[in-house]
Amino acid sequence: MKTLGLIGGMSWESTAIYYRLLNEIVRERLGGLHSAKLSLWSFDFAEIAERQHAGDWEGAGALLVEAARKLEVAGAEGLVICTNTMHKLADAVQAEVSIPLIHIADATAHAVVDAGVKRPALLATRFTMEQNFYKGRLADKYGLQPIVPDQAGRDMVHKVIYDELCQGIVKPESKSAYLDEVGRMRRTDRVDGVIMGCTEVTMLIGQGDFDIPVFDTTRIHAEAAVDFALS
Ligand code: GLU
Repeated sequence: MKTLGLIGGMSWESTAIYYRLLNEIVRERLGGLHSAKLSLWSFDFAEIAERQHAGDWEGAGALLVEAARKLEVAGAEGLVICTNTMHKLADAVQAEVSIPLIHIADATAHAVVDAGVKRPALLATRFTMEQNFYKGRLADKYGLQPIVPDQAGRDMVHKVIYDELCQGIVKPESKSAYLDEVGRMRRTDRVDGVIMGCTEVTMLIGQGDFDIPVFDTTRIHAEAAVDFALS
């Protein structure tokens, strides 16, 4: 089994979910006392979020590259950036290390394509919903048509991620707001699936809340990372 290097803490709420999932998936596949071989670099998320909101992606990228290099030196054989948003910097990170990066958008796109979904709603941070690094990859590489909420919807989805989920706060009214938003997107935009395109959203909603396919990027990314580790 290969050792995975996790770049986490963005936020630690979802890194903790990754840690559990990676170990559970390895146990499901290998049985007995088997567990994942991991090295974890965990950021103080306040330092990252400050740079994101200031548009200082270069500064954030330098921090991620430093983490990736340290994980490589520590023996990691594959990299997992435990957030969708920070995949904005995936190419910059990949360019600075010699171990492969397991890309969350590629893993997610494969699951969406396999399910026959074409127009998935993308619920994510404002950065992921409004910039092209994630939507563009789904469209250009996989022919998908990801649909994002309108301005008011994007503001609500983003605020719940940063002000609640990343701080460990899960509110029933926020869950209702997410479900209402997807309902609206089904009526107006004919979305045929839902990408939970932020690794904390799994704390709030899941497949049980919908009768269209839902793609939990945290689980999908963890499965892809274990595929790599056991290959
Ligand atoms: N974990 C979130 C994501 O998957 C949001 C926090 C971040 O900006 O990294 O995008």
